[in-house]
Amino acid sequence: MRLKCIKLAGFKSFVDPTTVTFPSNLCAVVGPNGCGKSNIIDAVRWVMGESSAKNLRGEAMTDVIFNGSGSRKPVGQASIELVFDNSDGTIRGEFAGYNEISVKRKVTRESQNFYYLNGNKCRRRDITDIFLGTGLGPRSYAIIEQGMISRLIEAKPEELRIYVEEAAGISKYKERRRDTENR
Ligand code: ATP
Ligand code: MG
Repeated sequence: MRLKCIKLAGFKSFVDPTTVTFPSNLCAVVGPNGCGKSNIIDAVRWVMGESSAKNLRGEAMTDVIFNGSGSRKPVGQASIELVFDNSDGTIRGEFAGYNEISVKRKVTRESQNFYYLNGNKCRRRDITDIFLGTGLGPRSYAIIEQGMISRLIEAKPEELRIYVEEAAGISKYKERRRDTENR
C-alpha cells in the first residue's frame, strides 16, 4: 500500500485547494522553514483520525482550519483527502477489490467532523478499522517524527507492546474481540 496523493483545502497554511502527489516509493518534501512541510504530515495524521490537537501542534481541533493571514480572511472549513494505492491488496475486507482507496475528513468551525471512504460518508471508526494493522492510524509507526525513537526507547512495557502488536498485525483482532465482548 502506498500513499499516492494528498488533497488539501483550507487546512493550516494550505488555504487554496492543493494536491501533493507522491509519484514513487521514495519522495522528499523540501522547502524553507515555515513553508508547510510538517503541515503535510499533520494532514495525514488528522485524516487517519487523530483526535489530539496537541499531536497536530495546535490547541483546539479547529486550529487546523486556515485562520487567515495578512491578505486572506479565515475560512470556514478544512478538508483533506488521502488517496492510497491498494493494488497490492494490503487493505482487505470490504475494500479488498479496490485498487485505490480514498479517505477524507472535513471539519467545520462549529467542530463538526465528517469522514468519507471512497466518497461515501462513514464514521471515524470505519477509517481506523480498515487501517488497523497497517501501521497507519492512531499509534501509527508509519510516521516517525522527531522524538519518537527516544519515546519508544523509554516507553513502559505496556506501551511498547501496543506498537509491537500493531507491527505484528494483531491489534485488529484484539480490537474486534474487545468490540464483541462489549456488545
Ligand atoms: P520547518 O522547516 O521550520 O519545520 P515547515 O515547512 O515544517 O517548517 P510548518 O510547520 O508545516 O512548516 O508550517 C508552519 C506554517 O503554517 C506557519 O507559517 C504557520 O503560520 C502556518 N499555519 C499553521 N496553522 C495555520 C492555520 N490554522 N492557518 C494559517 N496558517 C497556519
Ligand atoms: Mg517542520
